[in-house]
Amino acid sequence: EEPRISEEPRTVRAQRGGERTARSWGAEAAKRMLMNNLDPDVAEHPEDLVVYGGTGRAARSWEAFDAIVRTLDELEPDETLLVQSGKPVGVFRTHEWAPRVLIANSNLVGDWATWPEFRRLEQLGLTMYGQMTAGSWIYIGTQGILQGTYETFAAVARTLRTPGGESRESLAGTLTLTAGCGGMGGAQPLAVTMNEGVVLIVDVDASRLERRVAHGYLDEFTDDLDAALARVLSAKEQGIALSVGLVGNAAELFPELLARGVPVDVVTDQTSAHDPLAYLPVGVSPDEWRTLAEADPDAFTERARASMAQHVAAMVGFQDAGAAVFDYGNSLRREAELGGCARAFAFPGFVPAYIRPLFAEGKGPFRWVALSGDPADIAATDRAVKELFPHDAALHRWLDKAGAKVHFEGLPARICWLGYQERHLAGLRFNEMVASGELAGPIVIGRDHLDAGSVASPYRETEAMADGSDAIADWPLLNALLNTASGASWVSLHHGGGVGIGRSIHAGQVTVADGSALAAEKLARVLVNDPGTGVMRHVDAGYDRAREVARERGLKVPMP
Ligand code: NAD
Repeated sequence: EEPRISEEPRTVRAQRGGERTARSWGAEAAKRMLMNNLDPDVAEHPEDLVVYGGTGRAARSWEAFDAIVRTLDELEPDETLLVQSGKPVGVFRTHEWAPRVLIANSNLVGDWATWPEFRRLEQLGLTMYGQMTAGSWIYIGTQGILQGTYETFAAVARTLRTPGGESRESLAGTLTLTAGCGGMGGAQPLAVTMNEGVVLIVDVDASRLERRVAHGYLDEFTDDLDAALARVLSAKEQGIALSVGLVGNAAELFPELLARGVPVDVVTDQTSAHDPLAYLPVGVSPDEWRTLAEADPDAFTERARASMAQHVAAMVGFQDAGAAVFDYGNSLRREAELGGCARAFAFPGFVPAYIRPLFAEGKGPFRWVALSGDPADIAATDRAVKELFPHDAALHRWLDKAGAKVHFEGLPARICWLGYQERHLAGLRFNEMVASGELAGPIVIGRDHLDAGSVASPYRETEAMADGSDAIADWPLLNALLNTASGASWVSLHHGGGVGIGRSIHAGQVTVADGSALAAEKLARVLVNDPGTGVMRHVDAGYDRAREVARERGLKVPMP
């Protein structure tokens, strides 16, 4: 059972505009971003301080929230507030270059790092689950998952060839087959069409497909397999972007499509396979799902795993037929293996397959938020980023389409992936735009903890590292210490985000561009050093691309 946070409902919304009540923009920005995380337009369950990702919270209790806000308002520009798992615990005299807030969330000593022990301590009021950007106050709503999925499909496109053997710039003229159109998986159809491709997405629950059409994430859906195939094959032929939902069970439809020899180029899946009770087995209707799963969870798990084995066997079949096939971070391969699929691990996870080469360049999810609350500030920064990187076609495509399609939740924000020796160019430009008055208020610049040098997570971000260093967690600690030493406005160090307690350790930073000369000095260090730890980590693990990037872009590594 979840701990009770508050009896009375609260509504929180961050102040907008270019005037502050706190004594520094560092403290003001932290306060507004904490509040923005709890804005009803942003958070999943704001009444319980839950921002996203199961139980990822922004503060331990409403009392702790009030104390953090009060302390930030009174904090001197040479003081630092310490936050321990969502509770403010001390204020210390530091100096102007130091972070205004240092955050440690959900950390446990190794032998105690299990969900049952974590929940016991949480019940006692001693800790809080911070996820990645919930407890570190830099969540920006669903734009984050959409862009991550877009970037993955852009990376997939770069590995594909045309029938003539040339490399592809986009997914135009290709067909992607996937399943699972839920909370996060629902970003897949839009991410594929933003990359100009065609996608057929299978979901057992018609209401999920309907919802995605209503929200503009999916073009159309049907329960007629032949009709769906006619639509996607004609779009693929004409090179038109199109997403079609198909109501049905992936464990039945994937083998059927394979048997029919449908020319699929890319195959993945985002059903909620990480929890066998949330995967619908063949022969069970969506209406009986909950009752059957609750009545006999063990028997249901066995049936789900047997279906996942059929589902994955078909994916392996598509790979044998020449398609690019990958696991999208939902543990489908492991569950299928438990269900008896011997070749379940024949295809890779998405990080080793597509994201690691980006991580080796220090590329990852760079994001920024307009404290003015004015969407025009984001439009202006979008234009500035395009001017700074005129030759990056995928970046331009993303910024254009995001500008047209992404509806802001809370304070206006933008995300895009930039690498080592790129991010600071954007940060410094934004700072100039604040100083000149071109923007209506300061910009905060941060990122997800899922980044090149800031996470140890052997089932996801650090799966299959070249040197076997998957579980080495010194790297995110060094990342947090370096960002603290470089002038970040707030720095966070968490455990258990993304994949759960016991399975990850990760760090975050946020730095404010308030238009001052001091902010420029800080941004020039933090936004170079932070992605630099990603390049360093991949040089150390033996990645050639990281060595090249370090050499070309001047990163000092004593033992390359
Ligand atoms: P969700 O529960 O909201 O949606 C899952 C969907 O799968 C539902 O719509 C359900 O109807 C459908 N489904 C279940 N069984 C099916 C079957 N047999 N055939 C067809 N459809 C079926 O979950 P979500 O938030 O969309 O996340 C999906 C999975 O993706 C999770 O396991 C999550 O951990 C993973 N994920 C990974 C990443 C990443 O970065 N790698 C990102 C997002 C999500």
